[in-house]
Amino acid sequence: MIVLKFGGTSVGNAERVREAARIALSQPAPRVVVVSAASGVTNALLDAARAAARGDNTRRAEAVALIHARHEEILDGIASPLQRRLAWYVVTEVQNVLDATLDEVEAAGELTAVHSDRIVSTGEKCLSTLLAATIRDMGHEAEAVFTDTIIATDGRHGSARPDRGQTREQAEHLIVPLLESGETVVATGFIGFGPDGATTTLGRGGSDYSATLLGAALDADEVQIWTDVPGVLSADPRSVPSARVVSEISYDEAQELAHFGAKVLHPRTIRPAVALDIPVRILSTFLPDQPGTVVMRQADSSRIKAVTALKGLILMTLDVPELEDLAPAASAVFRIMHEQCVEILSVSQASSRRRMTYILDAVTGGCPNLQSLIAAELDDIDAEISCREEVAVLAAVGEGAASTPASLTRMLTVLNREKIRVLSTNQQTTNAALITVIHEEDAARAVQALHTAFIRPELTVARPKRPRKASLLSESLRVG
Ligand code: ADP
Ligand code: ASP
Ligand code: MG
Repeated sequence: MIVLKFGGTSVGNAERVREAARIALSQPAPRVVVVSAASGVTNALLDAARAAARGDNTRRAEAVALIHARHEEILDGIASPLQRRLAWYVVTEVQNVLDATLDEVEAAGELTAVHSDRIVSTGEKCLSTLLAATIRDMGHEAEAVFTDTIIATDGRHGSARPDRGQTREQAEHLIVPLLESGETVVATGFIGFGPDGATTTLGRGGSDYSATLLGAALDADEVQIWTDVPGVLSADPRSVPSARVVSEISYDEAQELAHFGAKVLHPRTIRPAVALDIPVRILSTFLPDQPGTVVMRQADSSRIKAVTALKGLILMTLDVPELEDLAPAASAVFRIMHEQCVEILSVSQASSRRRMTYILDAVTGGCPNLQSLIAAELDDIDAEISCREEVAVLAAVGEGAASTPASLTRMLTVLNREKIRVLSTNQQTTNAALITVIHEEDAARAVQALHTAFIRPELTVARPKRPRKASLLSESLRVG
């Protein structure tokens, strides 16, 4: 059983939807297709939702018109009048729920996370309907399934955590019978249902995560992430045009890359695949014949394979003069982070100075808010908290290489040569990534410099030497 996931640009218009359908049908059955909203539609839905909360009817109408137009263009690509009519009916119904929810938001004058999740689910629901209809239009059985009946989550709207046991049960009841009757199941990415049954979402870019969650729930042989790049690249091609495809990476390496900003995979995507050893393949819908990248337990190792940066972070340090105060102070910090739902990306300790360094995801109110929350909690402990915003984590990913001191030295030498100030570093012998914290304004330059230092030289070494004249001659003789 194969799960294929298509991202927003891969289903951005009628032509791309047909190409996605063709790719899905080229894979052996049984197959589950997971689909995102068409590119730009989730942002337009959020725009409409915020406009409704402000009572800005013009803006709301513009955003809704854009959404309708995108879906209508895809509907018009369905040749069979029957399939077009059936899809139109469902899409209209989903869009009517959107209008009703926007009315509720407008009446309340505020956008709650519950309403926001119901509103953004429109994009995935319409696309799964349209892609299933397109597959049927091509003469194959297909059924759209809305995963706000399948993927069970907690009630954290906007970044819900899945309940894998309950999801497996739901998938067994609602997806397996469809697969057994020969249908291609086209499931919505991104969305699930909370304990009260309300629609939840797994966080922006969460359709990748939906694919591996469904893959694990259905014991898939492989999960394929079809996107707009030909695999995991050695850096984001938008900032490093010479980035090249990495053919194999391990689960650990992929998790580090995704965790530290490589948008090609949602940060939680790999986790469900690890337990069941399911290979995850990243492929391009624009170059479907390319082999892409395979993510698996053990991959070819011992070199830095990719460089990434994650911006918009907070670097917080906690200095505690008395050693015995360190544990209670640190535990209070962790508790506050948990209560505020702030993600901790990295923690390190300089024991001689009783100093803890935390790299944190952005938080509402930024440093002032964090500092006052922690200061209140540490009332009776002598501790000093300092906090800095607009920092970035720079990560050089590659098992084996990341844990050698030589790699860290090289990384620091390169950054020093580029006059990039290092605020903190983190290396452990078992890590799959070397981590350095820098000012976010230096991130693009740092990624380029590290890519040149760690990745490009291997390109040069790997390039075959220019043949000497004699061998050129023998080559041409052989060919001729
Ligand atoms: P989709 O809509 O298919 O989910 P995304 O836009 O979420 O696609 O992810 C693909 C994008 O991720 C690429 O267009 C690329 O700009 C970006 N990206 C960032 N880092 C990497 C990387 N290391 N390898 C490949 N793509 C990357
Ligand atoms: N449509 C959602 C988003 O834009 C989920 C996804 O694309 O994976 O975030
Ligand atoms: Mg994505």
